[in-house]
Amino acid sequence: MSLFENTIRQMRNAAQIMKLDPHVEAHLSSPQRILEVSVPVHMDNGSVRVFKGFRVQHCNARGPYKGGIRFHPQVDMEEVKALATWMTMKCSVVGIPLGGGKGGVIVDPRELSERELEQLSRTYIRAIEPLIGPEKDVPAPDVYTNPKIMAWMADEYSMLQRRNKLGVVTGKPLSVGGSEGRGEATSQGGMYVLEEALKELGKNPSEMTVVIQGFGNAGANVAHMMEDAGYKVVGVSDSKGALYCKEGLHPREAISCKMEKGTVTECSVAGIQKTGDCCKVITNEELLEVECDVLVLSALENQVTKDNAANVKASIILELANGPTTPEADEILREKGVMVIPDILANAGGVTVSYFELVQNEANFYWSAEEVQERLIRIMVEAWQAVSETAKKHNATLREAAFIVALKRLEEAMLARGW
Ligand code: GLU
Repeated sequence: MSLFENTIRQMRNAAQIMKLDPHVEAHLSSPQRILEVSVPVHMDNGSVRVFKGFRVQHCNARGPYKGGIRFHPQVDMEEVKALATWMTMKCSVVGIPLGGGKGGVIVDPRELSERELEQLSRTYIRAIEPLIGPEKDVPAPDVYTNPKIMAWMADEYSMLQRRNKLGVVTGKPLSVGGSEGRGEATSQGGMYVLEEALKELGKNPSEMTVVIQGFGNAGANVAHMMEDAGYKVVGVSDSKGALYCKEGLHPREAISCKMEKGTVTECSVAGIQKTGDCCKVITNEELLEVECDVLVLSALENQVTKDNAANVKASIILELANGPTTPEADEILREKGVMVIPDILANAGGVTVSYFELVQNEANFYWSAEEVQERLIRIMVEAWQAVSETAKKHNATLREAAFIVALKRLEEAMLARGW
């Protein structure tokens, strides 16, 4: 089953429970617009390589399309369609007035020089320029894209338009229209939601052990936030492997060691482990099955599947990645009583602060870090409450409930517009 088919299956489950208008369901079952572009780059060695890129616009019933751009060697159209669909749901769950879109370029950016990466980013923006803009479709960072790339993209679009249009992409550096708090927003939003979940379960962060899969923007930020909030982080990983420290580890030291050595698997040394000799290097697959209370999935999709879901020991899964749990795994986890805090709620802090960034760019008036946090926490807590209440009302999982909340708002908007 493709990732997009998984997404549609998740939507259908919720649609059945809430009795969604079948026209609305049909409308949301395929993206409104799909663009495929070629992205030629003059390489440093004098050759020209032509990369393939996509932009998918899933639904703009509630506002302009919004969603990241992924630079990854394995990205494909089915994946981008799935990610765009989740963006529609995500924006709706947190109640921000945006739709869903997503982009991708098939490339391993780690193999490009800085100049090649800049040309790729600018050429991709020129290719999709007719379809984007602050009122049309607003890209952002995703896997292997970052604020520096967003600055090039905002600059390229502004030059084409012959005016400053910094709100064309979000996740920019602070020096060119970025927002306070955007860099950490995905992790911060996840922390706020997890805190609410623990309150409901009557549990304290200090009693919880945590394993974090993935050490990119979301994984690395959530690791030190968890440490500061009193959780005990016992495992971390990156694409090369995992480090499991039964007695706990120090996330900040693990982050700086990863920066220095390139992977956490080289980091099982004093200074990172909390007591003596408690760390061992294991695989990413093994990490998902170790003893812990909270498993944070912040790597890629399809990590917890029908093959390993039964072995997950955590009682809570926090999905900071998009689509890390397959529908088959969801069934197994439901039977085991594992609480899965779904991606479209758990990682929505990122797009929420992207929305704040867009608003600030359009007004050309900027907020303090405190103002950003105040607004983010309010939105995340309200979204958690809506999802949690809906789950109880329908005896549904949190994923089903999050889709129900999102679909209700989409249904209302689409019917009001006469779609
Ligand atoms: N790529 C992020 C996501 O999947 C952020 C999207 C955005 O900020 O527009 O939610």
